[in-house]
Amino acid sequence: MSSIFSKIIAREIPADIVYEDDDCLAFRDISPKAPVHVLVIPKREIVSLADLTVEDEAVMGRCVVAASQIAAAEGLGGGYRLIVNCGEDGGQEVPHLHFHLLGGRKMSWPPG
Ligand code: AMP
Repeated sequence: MSSIFSKIIAREIPADIVYEDDDCLAFRDISPKAPVHVLVIPKREIVSLADLTVEDEAVMGRCVVAASQIAAAEGLGGGYRLIVNCGEDGGQEVPHLHFHLLGGRKMSWPPG
């Protein structure tokens, strides 16, 4: 299922891209929930965590390492949060797996 994120990968709609490699793309969330809010996505069209297979292990690892590198580049030395919303109950709205990298403020727990 193609989503708006596929259009960002294809450069059909603009985004504030902060990182790219062969497997992953990262760009600033259009509606940020923290001073730093970056979305890290696999370029492969994976709908959600529930759709992952063993073939996705390397790509998912690359995205997590990329998130760590982006957090450092964004100056989040005090900490940050990396979140994946999965499915309707998880609050996922865009059907293309994405990590939310949130930082720059103190996070509360538990999430809503
Ligand atoms: P989720 O609810 O986990 O599916 O998160 C989807 C996220 O995508 C939300 O935080 C939206 O603000 C963000 N978003 C939707 N469209 C765009 C876009 N065109 N560029 C950047 N972020 C977007």
